[in-house]
Amino acid sequence: MGIIPHFLVIPFPVLGHINPITQFSNVLIKHGCKVTFLHTEFSHKRAQISAKDGGSKDHNNINYVTLPDGLDHEDDRSDLVKVLLSMIKTMPSLLPKLIEDINALDSSATTMASVHSLPKLMEDGIIDSDGNTTKKQKIQFSPLMPMMDPTHFAWGSIGKVFFDHLYQQEIQLLNLAEWWLCNTAYDLEPGALSVSPRFLPIGPLMEIDNNNNKSSSFWKEDTTCLEWLDQQQPQSVVYVSFGSLAVMESNQFKELALALDLIDNPFLWVVRPDNKDNYKYPDEFHGRKGKIVVWVSQKKVLNHPAIACFISHCGWNSTIEGVYSGVPFLCWPFFSDQFWDESYICDVWKVGLGLNKDENGFISKEEIRKKVEKLFGDEGIRERSLKLKQVTRNNLAEGGKSKKNLENFVNWAK
Ligand code: UDP
Repeated sequence: MGIIPHFLVIPFPVLGHINPITQFSNVLIKHGCKVTFLHTEFSHKRAQISAKDGGSKDHNNINYVTLPDGLDHEDDRSDLVKVLLSMIKTMPSLLPKLIEDINALDSSATTMASVHSLPKLMEDGIIDSDGNTTKKQKIQFSPLMPMMDPTHFAWGSIGKVFFDHLYQQEIQLLNLAEWWLCNTAYDLEPGALSVSPRFLPIGPLMEIDNNNNKSSSFWKEDTTCLEWLDQQQPQSVVYVSFGSLAVMESNQFKELALALDLIDNPFLWVVRPDNKDNYKYPDEFHGRKGKIVVWVSQKKVLNHPAIACFISHCGWNSTIEGVYSGVPFLCWPFFSDQFWDESYICDVWKVGLGLNKDENGFISKEEIRKKVEKLFGDEGIRERSLKLKQVTRNNLAEGGKSKKNLENFVNWAK
């Protein structure tokens, strides 16, 4: 009998990290490993996973344990830098041996490549010691990667405190790791993956959670939307979702609502309940052709034959989920790596379109309507989306690169 490897997985407590780490845990369990999943007490409670003292077994055999994130219960956790700093202050002393494993998985290879390249970017004078951009021209981390606007570096939109953390701590932590597991496929980011031999693409992890009651979502999934989708024509519905964190200005929200009224096709729009104060529908809004929901099983929705395109904030999970389903994108990035993901979608894979903003950063309803119509009429984008879907899925099939990498990783662990 071989040794059973036991993994401790520690996601940052936002859904875009918890979900892929949950899928990764399930894959590890299928390969005969044990997994202990560390939630913060707050997110564990929020995800409503039944916890007992000392950890509890979930339906999928993941063993859950919790630690405090160091904030008071009523503190605002939308400030992710505050959460990060508090966790870093609180958790290591409670879990000294295992902190090195943090955040090794939930990223695209491109995000990893950018962190890896930080010292070189400074040396070349592309960013200064505060992470600010000193050059205007676009740069490339490696051939085959898109040209990138330095103002779109992840730390640019999140601020200096985050930059300092990346530069002073994250790089050192990553350098301790034997492997940097990336939730991507070789064919999606060959250039970024070539930046370090330790980048190991094992994705995209795409397991669909069929057990709605035990889902790790923070909001209750609306399952009626699947029946509604069943009643729509194939490839007719515009799916609109901006992930679990992005918040839109209230005027922009109203404009989007009016744009959806203008579009001839039906829409399925996820409007999270945590922004109620910001999000008021304009008086003129009818919404007759669409369905508005608080949260859905996005993977199920994207795989539904009625979906025609995806208006997305381009979070990495949403990006790979859309790619995996072969759905063309209309890109609406907000912050962090979302701008890079848009570059991949529009410039590298060519499976979507971007939106133009006016001088105030506002996107008009005419622009949204125009681009959705353009997307519907673009056969090239549709064909490339379907091709990319196949190429991506091949990575996970028997003999595929991601599947082999994952098996090799588990064997290495064993
Ligand atoms: N998601 C979902 N239901 C929704 C909207 C989003 O399950 O109604 C999931 C989506 O499938 C993805 C995650 O939430 O896995 C969002 O992660 P992403 O990296 O795209 O964006 P973030 O929320 O981190 O900004």
